[in-house]
Amino acid sequence: MRKPLIVGNWKMYKTITEAEDYVAQIKDRLPAKQVAEVELAVPTLFLQSLARLTAASPLKIVAENCFYQDEGAFTGETSPLALRELGIKHVILGHSERRRLFFESDQVVNQKVHAALSAGLCPILCVDETMKRLAEHGQVAWVVNQVITGLAGVSEDQLAHIVIAYEPSWAIGTGKAAASPVEANEGCYLIRQTVACLYGEAAANRVRILYGGSVNQANLPQLIGRPDIDGVLIGRASLDPATFLTMVDQVVAASGGEASA
Ligand code: PEP
Repeated sequence: MRKPLIVGNWKMYKTITEAEDYVAQIKDRLPAKQVAEVELAVPTLFLQSLARLTAASPLKIVAENCFYQDEGAFTGETSPLALRELGIKHVILGHSERRRLFFESDQVVNQKVHAALSAGLCPILCVDETMKRLAEHGQVAWVVNQVITGLAGVSEDQLAHIVIAYEPSWAIGTGKAAASPVEANEGCYLIRQTVACLYGEAAANRVRILYGGSVNQANLPQLIGRPDIDGVLIGRASLDPATFLTMVDQVVAASGGEASA
């Protein structure tokens, strides 16, 4: 059985003081790691301090991005190797905001996946789908292509260290237009089928696939009950600690575990 994974994505919100205060509020109130994994993706600037604060907590701190080289003349970029040395395990790669605002192509995302894996990190590979592309080419071609390109050259052993997130950009950041549970599961199912074509059924059944896009307390219970959705990537609704904890409890309850303290 695939263990549920809940990842909050803070994007470029919060100051370091707000971040530390938030983490102090939730770090001892999370389910044991064997029930569900809870992670927070935070700005690079906060990684070191929050990783220290959570060293003894089940809460894991995640990077929102990294570069595709370990070192060099790349002003402003973050080395995957340096992230690993900080004790960071997961890194979000290919988020739709990176693709759209920073022009990251599928090939660049794939380079980042390889650099992260080589540094000992575990990528959370986001695959996107926009309304326009959806209308023009159909969901299938677009999502499948991003999965195939994102995983190009990744071995079956390496796949075990990757989480994939289905994040239709038409559902991100709107606060209300989440994909319906059926649409969200379809996207995740499509990704799993693509992984099955590339690596076989057994590998596809092991890989965790998250849904992200305006997930909130109201729609989460229906999403998490779907067969191909193994967890959620939560943006806006993760910014409030009480709301985030409630959502963690919802996932745990849906998976038959115990709620947080
Ligand atoms: C995200 O940015 O990954 C995300 C899912 O954002 P939101 O929940 O705000 O749509």
